[in-house]
Amino acid sequence: MTSWEKLRDEAARCTRCDLYRRATQTVFGEGRTGVSITLVGEQPGDQEDKQGHPFVGPAGRILDRALVEAGIDRDDVYVTNAVKHFKWTERGKRRIHQRPNGTEIRACGFWLEAELGAADRGSALHDALDEFLKAYPSGLLPPDAIDRFEGLGEKHLEALLTAPAERAFWWPRFQRLARWFVATENARRAAGTKLLASETNGAITVGPPGRPLRIDARADRIDEIEPGGWEIIDYKTGRVPSPKELDGLFAPQLLLEAAMAEQGGFEGIKGKARAVHLSYWQANGLGSGGEVKEIKGSEQLVPAMLALVAKMAEHFANPATPYAALPWPEFIPHFNDYAHLERVAEWSTAGGGEE
Ligand code: SF4
Repeated sequence: MTSWEKLRDEAARCTRCDLYRRATQTVFGEGRTGVSITLVGEQPGDQEDKQGHPFVGPAGRILDRALVEAGIDRDDVYVTNAVKHFKWTERGKRRIHQRPNGTEIRACGFWLEAELGAADRGSALHDALDEFLKAYPSGLLPPDAIDRFEGLGEKHLEALLTAPAERAFWWPRFQRLARWFVATENARRAAGTKLLASETNGAITVGPPGRPLRIDARADRIDEIEPGGWEIIDYKTGRVPSPKELDGLFAPQLLLEAAMAEQGGFEGIKGKARAVHLSYWQANGLGSGGEVKEIKGSEQLVPAMLALVAKMAEHFANPATPYAALPWPEFIPHFNDYAHLERVAEWSTAGGGEE
């Protein structure tokens, strides 16, 4: 299954806003992915909702005529909508289209961003940052650092920004990000922060001695901000976990990486951290280009996370343990590479599944 197909299937179970309640199904984008023309409509209409395909109703017929007139084959175009569920109001026997509101458009923007290659752009950005840090691991950055970082952006994003429209939209964002990143980096280095590792693997073992569970992670970046004091940074091109998710221990990655640092579990770094700070770098190119978002209260959250994972591992080791298919549906990951292994679709009765 391709990543696009996985995304489409995840979206089919979406409950991020209320529109799923009255619609027949999600109507995801269709066409050739990675093409140079992407058309984004507002939302599916009555026919699209019934058939499950975008632009198949009256608007689709107008689109087809326009494409013919423009000499464009519809098979060479990717068509989708900003909102994936049909919003409607009843008038007699007819379902009349209603405009989605800002909250619904923002909620569904998650899928649109992902659909248009946000995940690939995120990976490319990670690669550009990693290559830049490995080229300039210490000291102040050279005067032409922004140009050099943009050069790496060109290299890693090249294959993703082939369409002029896409490039016109994303490249200014990358340039804003480059300016913010270089300024932030220089300020940190001037204050004595040292890079310990970029894109580095770590591991810890938890659980009962007879059934140990090894947890692996890859940290985007680890800096030393004072002797023995490390900062683990996670680059985020999309959403940053909310304080509610962090406090509820639903965003384990950085917390477990902190535990690895405290136990000397990172293979590329000698020794262990005496104290660990955690932060997300919101690297989306919006506003001033990026933002550092520190995780507050990590001293309490890290041991709590570790204790919870140890308890879960112990629970898991007991063959009599029953499992809920979706124990916290409001926090299900939207990109779950393991759904087929968890056999969620098979076991879950949510959404009208058969018993
Ligand atoms: S966010 Fe989009 S896909 Fe999810 S329920 Fe709302 S309209 Fe449907």
